[in-house]
Formats: sequence, structure tokens, C-alpha cells
Amino acid sequence: MAEATPALEIRDLHKRYGQLEVLKGISLSARDGDVISILGSSGSGKSTLLRCINLLENPHQGEILVAGEALKLKASRKGELIAADNRQINRLRSEIGFVFQNFNLWPHMTVLDNIIEAPRRVRGQSKAEAIEMAEALLAKVGIADKRHAYPAQLSGGQQQRAAIARTLAMQPKVILFDEPTSALDPEMVQEVLNVIRGLAQEGRTMLMVTHEMNFARQVSSEVVFLHQGRVEEQGSPQQVFDEPQSARCKQFMSSNR
Ligand code: ADP
Ligand code: MG
Repeated sequence: MAEATPALEIRDLHKRYGQLEVLKGISLSARDGDVISILGSSGSGKSTLLRCINLLENPHQGEILVAGEALKLKASRKGELIAADNRQINRLRSEIGFVFQNFNLWPHMTVLDNIIEAPRRVRGQSKAEAIEMAEALLAKVGIADKRHAYPAQLSGGQQQRAAIARTLAMQPKVILFDEPTSALDPEMVQEVLNVIRGLAQEGRTMLMVTHEMNFARQVSSEVVFLHQGRVEEQGSPQQVFDEPQSARCKQFMSSNR
């Protein structure tokens, strides 16, 4: 039987900033329900990889497929690949959720308004429909009582949970997390990890850059170790954490315990 179409596939992705080649041919594939953790030292290209997937950054080479649908790309004059079809990239962006290190909530909007904005504008939901879903999501992430607060009135952990609720409101096929707990005070890390753990248990497809090694070991179906823009090592959490093969990965694992 043929393999099921991956939820997300990245083929031979290259990206450079000026002369600096940051991604040197990355290929990755996530099946439905996979939780792939991306590890690597600072500067190894983790954020750039995630940001290229929905064209927050423009790669120079490679292919990106969402549920088998290839993102239509064309070369810009600068030699970067840009979206060739605006309607398609807008639709695919709404199917690829992105949770940032610094939450990126809109500061001038309440939590509820942050969550209903995109479903109303992009998905054409009625206000009542969008509010109903937002309230359910706020309850799910444990901040129902904060719906009328502004982001600045929330703790970092609450802001990140609101940002996750906002992402979920778009019913994404895949969620990308870029160090979702790195900006948080230590006492708030677990509340956010618990929400992400719940999403993993629901079978959500996720790519997650994280330095939370224990968490990555517990929730990941696969771990990818990046080094200088290449996949240096890849495998089950057990393989990568307990039996790393490459010297770089061994060193990284022993200095991050
Ligand atoms: P990571 O997330 O693994 O820490 P990044 O993807 O942020 O790594 O960065 C990879 C490399 O690309 C680093 O050397 C970084 O300095 C460089 N870089 C990232 N963004 C830019 C940019 N906008 N312009 C120039 N260089 C960048
Ligand atoms: Mg980064």
C-alpha cells in the first residue's frame, strides 16, 4: 500500500542571508499526528527553517508541500523564492499555525478580539460563531476569565496560552512552535508545556523548536537535530537523546542535560 500523504513535507530547502548559507538542503516530512522536535544550538537555522515553511522568510531553493499540495513558488529578482499565487499562500498560511517565542499578540486588542480577528476576516465566520469558538478555546487553555483583558495585563504564560488559542481558532492542519517557552519565567513554562502536551495527545501535527529536552523526549514522535543548517541527526527520541551518533549531537546532548 502507498504511504499516506504527509501533512507537511519539506524538500531540499536552502536559504541564505547574503553570503551566509543558513539552510543547506533540509528535508523533513511530518505525517498526520507527528510531533517533530527540532533541536540545535543557537544559530543552527531552526527559526529560519520554521519561518521558510510559511514564507515569513523566502528560501532560495526547495519545495514545501502541505497535505500533498505544493506551495507555488517563483524566483524573485533577488533570487529568492516567493509565492507565485497569493490566494494559495494566504490559504496555506491559514492552515499552518505559528506560535512565536514572543507571543505576538496584538497589544491594542483584548484576548477575545485577538482570537476572533482571523477567523472572522480570513475564514468569514460570523461574530457569534467566532466568539463561541474562542471561548471554548480559552477554556481549553485555561484562561477563560481573561477574555476581556489586554495582553499587557496577562502574565507571559497566559499570553502564550492566548496565542496558542488564537492559532487553534484557525483550525490549522499543522502547528509550528518556535521556542514557545523561551521567553517565559521558569514558573510559567509548565503551564504552557501542558497545553502543548494536550495538543500532542489530541493527535495534532506539530513541528516544535524547543530547548525543553525532557518535554521533547516525552511528546515527540521524532527528533531532528540541526547543525549549521543541515539535519545532522534524526530519529526517535530514544535514538537521538540516548544514543546520538554524531559527535555534534553527542556534545549537544551532554551539554543540555
Ligand atoms: P536559530 O533559530 O537556530 O538560533 P536562526 O535561524 O535564527 O537560528 O539563525 C540562523 C543564522 O542565520 C544565524 O547565523 C543568524 O545570525 C542568521 N540570521 C537569521 N536571521 C537573519 C536575518 N534576518 N538576516 C541576516 N542573518 C540572519
Ligand atoms: Mg531561533
